[in-house]
Order: sequence, then C-alpha cells, then structure tokens
Amino acid sequence: MMLIDPHAHMISRTTDDYQAMADAGVVALIEPAFWVGQPRTFVGTYVDYLSTIVGWERFRAGQFGIRHYCTVGLNSKEANNEELAEGVMDWLPRFALKEGVVAIGEIGYDEQTPLEDKYFRSQLELAEELNLPVMIHTPHRDKKRGTSRSMDVCEEHGIDPGMVIVDHNNEETVAETLQRGFWAGFSIYPSTKMGNARMVEILRQYGGERIIVDSACDWGISDCLGVAKTAQLALERGIPKETVQKVCYQNALDAYGQSGQMKEEDWLEPPAIDQRTLFEGNSILRGGREPHIEEPGDRRQRNLLIE
Ligand SMILES: [Zn+2]
Repeated sequence: MMLIDPHAHMISRTTDDYQAMADAGVVALIEPAFWVGQPRTFVGTYVDYLSTIVGWERFRAGQFGIRHYCTVGLNSKEANNEELAEGVMDWLPRFALKEGVVAIGEIGYDEQTPLEDKYFRSQLELAEELNLPVMIHTPHRDKKRGTSRSMDVCEEHGIDPGMVIVDHNNEETVAETLQRGFWAGFSIYPSTKMGNARMVEILRQYGGERIIVDSACDWGISDCLGVAKTAQLALERGIPKETVQKVCYQNALDAYGQSGQMKEEDWLEPPAIDQRTLFEGNSILRGGREPHIEEPGDRRQRNLLIE
C-alpha cells in the first residue's frame, strides 16, 4: 500500500529514517514549518529555515525516492516574539508561492495569547488570498478549548472548513472537528498522547471520512514509521482496507492536493533516484561511498539496500 505522511519534520531526521520510510511504502510526505526546539532570535534564521525545507530537504527526500512537500508559516510559539513575527510575515508570501508548498501551516495556538491570535488570523487571511489549504497545530494544553477556538476563528474569517486540516486531534476533539466539516489530523506518538492502538479504535468508531494519520516525527521522541505502523495495525485488527487507504494516503492527497502542488503523478511517474546528483554543489554521499542509482519501477521489487 502506498502511504503519505502529511506531517513529518524531516529536517531533524536521519537518512536512515528516509530509507525506513521508503521501505515501508511512504511515497510522499509533508514537512510543516514549525519551531525548532528553541526560539529563533533573528528573522534571517527563520528565512534560512524556510529555504531549507523548500530546497535541500526536498532534494534529500528525493534521493530516497520520496516526494517532499512543505507548508510555510509562523508557528504559534514564535508568534509571541513580535519583532520576529513581523519580519517572518513580510517573507511568508514569497515562500508560499514556491514549488511544493501545499499549505500555510502549522499555525494556530500554543498558550492562546493575544499575539498568537493576531498572527493566526493574519495567516488565515494570507491562505485565503493565495487560495491555499491551512494546517492547524492545536495546543497540547487546554486542547479541547484551543481546538474549538481555532475552528471558530476559521469560521469567523469565512474560511471553507474543507480547506483546513486541524491536526493533533484526540478522542476528545474528533467528533466536533468532523461534525464542523474540517479535516481531522491525528499524530501518532509512541507511548504517549495518541498511540496507534488508540488510533485504530478511533477508525473503528468514526470510519475514514476526513480523517488523516501522520507521524509528526521531529527532534523529540517520535516514530517516523507512525503512519506505516498504524496502517499495519489497523489492517490486522480488521479495519477495512479502503478505510486504511483513505486515512493513510488518499485523504492527505485530497486535502493538500487542493493547493495544486501535490499530484499522484509526482510519485507514480517519479524521476530516477541518482545519488550522484548535487544540490547547490552538495551531495548526501560521504567519502568514497558508492552512489545508489535506480530507475523508476525498480523500487519495492527487491529489498532496498544501500550499502
Ligand atoms: Zn509539527
């Protein structure tokens, strides 16, 4: 089964992770712009980060046969630094129009401060202007209220719920998210919050309409195979294959495909993998290593092994 991981911070992951994801069937992933673990203190570092996720990281994924897309936005934590936030807002429209950018995100609330609210709203307006989908990061604290409020604000701004993916749902928020017509994302975290066994129970209860599974893997304890492991467990536990295919592939494509930047042909007719390729003069290879070169269609017909 082909899989999409629509929330993966690959900038913090290793090449082993790319290899494992490719081997598990991940054909495409989306890297949302987010916070990097500590606050950025200059607009320039934020701009370079955005350049990396639309540039080098896209190249790096391609070297493992995975198509890489991203979302751009000012995250809620850093929205609280007004000087930085203003600078990032000036740059965002330029990045939002770059190839492979499928949404404005991840935006929304962290501590639900007035500044977070201000920049959430201005980014919703940007998304609407550019006709791009929105990826919403719902807060970990006070989640239920923060999730409802995020959807209230989208409605206030007249945003079509079908253009909004509300991520990091749980059992407490899913019913409302679906009932209001938004896409409901679920991030699968090992042994905390939302594990894949809990996810399977949600699928049993709600089916697959407008539900999207992602790994949200980043620099913290997380699993880049969150989508693949959930798909496998769901099938083992009797969830219909069509449902699994929807939540681990098709829904993400339908939701983010609305950007016009993400199409099935991108991975059905992929370019060959050629690790001799360079990006701005740089390679993923290290001293003396044999490059892996592979024509489209070679994949998954054999055990992928890069020595
Ligand atoms: Zn994230």
